[in-house]
Amino acid sequence: MDERVLQILQEKTERNVADLKRLLRQPSISAQGIGMLECAQMLRDELAALGGQAELHLTPGHPIVTAVFPGEGPKTLLVYGHYDVQPPEPLEEWKYDPFGAEEVDGKIFARGAVDDKGNFYTAIKAVQAYKEAGVPLPLTVKFIIEGEEEVSSASLYDFVKEHKDLLQADALIGIDGNFTVNGYPQMLLGRKGMCYVQLTARTARDHHSMRAPLLVNPAWRLVWALNTLKNEREEVLIEGFYDDVLEPTEEEMQLLAELDWNPEALLQEAGQSEFLLGLEGLEAKKRLHFAPTCTICGIGSGYMGQGPKTVIPSVASAKVDMRLVPNQKPADILAKLRKHLDKHGFSDIEIESLGGLEGCRTSPHSPIVRAMQQSITEAFVLKPSIMPSIPGSGPAYVFKEHLNLNQITACFGPPEDLNHAPNEYIFRSSYLKGIEAIARLFKLYSQAE
Ligand SMILES: [Zn+2]
Repeated sequence: MDERVLQILQEKTERNVADLKRLLRQPSISAQGIGMLECAQMLRDELAALGGQAELHLTPGHPIVTAVFPGEGPKTLLVYGHYDVQPPEPLEEWKYDPFGAEEVDGKIFARGAVDDKGNFYTAIKAVQAYKEAGVPLPLTVKFIIEGEEEVSSASLYDFVKEHKDLLQADALIGIDGNFTVNGYPQMLLGRKGMCYVQLTARTARDHHSMRAPLLVNPAWRLVWALNTLKNEREEVLIEGFYDDVLEPTEEEMQLLAELDWNPEALLQEAGQSEFLLGLEGLEAKKRLHFAPTCTICGIGSGYMGQGPKTVIPSVASAKVDMRLVPNQKPADILAKLRKHLDKHGFSDIEIESLGGLEGCRTSPHSPIVRAMQQSITEAFVLKPSIMPSIPGSGPAYVFKEHLNLNQITACFGPPEDLNHAPNEYIFRSSYLKGIEAIARLFKLYSQAE
């Protein structure tokens, strides 16, 4: 690591904190459309002032900001972040103005302090440190900063598809999220995908229920169809559902074993005495992080008002999400579901696709993971906790689909996770160490094989 860069980081501490506060004071609430263009312009101007080829791209939703900083080495690192924030409400629960960026006891309070401004901005400040130190960037650094992450990233998909050349890179990092509950910086290497469907059974109209011996009841049709999807041993019964499942490697299982978690708290919150199938320990973690699922998210039919109404309802619907793991493809699962229902006599059940995303997982051995692990260890003097895959899904799949890049994410927020809640804050110290970690990452990844 170049000493001049570390020296600049020391000298510019107060300026780096002041600039973050300036960014945090600019509201950018995507759900309410407040301050979005202003915030995007602020970032574009800052990236341009650092000498990057910075652009503000208008989209059908909120603008996307990109920037390219050519470097000396052949590698390219793409940094993903989002400048939009969740609405700050309920305002009366904030101790400080959510867009005041007030600093108290080393904590900088603001909506977006962690999610995601205080996280992704570390990479901009890392680039600036190289510029100010007069040290050439050891690799090309590209940025894509979107404004719709908190409202499901609708414009990101087409944007990435249409800007493959601009965004092409060797690795992709996101910077978002928090330390573990035990106070370790965190790295996330993957996430699940999703196949979301609405299943519907219907007839021409409602009928008096006295005709039940003769007429089809869509509510029963739907219940029976759903009953064929999964058994009581939690096995999904759609033929071929598990065919492409990528099993975790030994290393991934090892990382999982080392992961902090608190099963008792989850059981208590859920009011359960044990997990499904009596799962415990590593087996429970494995199911949570690596198993695909089939979940009834909503179900409805017929009369649910006060008192009785004797009716055969004409329509019954259920929303079902299937969280997929890497190598399972949403379109393939959708086709298998259709085939399964037909085969079991449910060709009358309509399937409407409500969205699909692929899962992704980066190998713990890949150069970007090892470089980031080392850079965090050096900057924080703490070994990061590595989560091989989160149980949830996310927009990262668009990069995989169009650029063949798996996203890994570094998390510099505090252990107390107040993202989306009142009094969100980031520690000044972890923001500053985050900048150092990313500055080190540029160097380490440029040398990684
Ligand atoms: Zn968020």
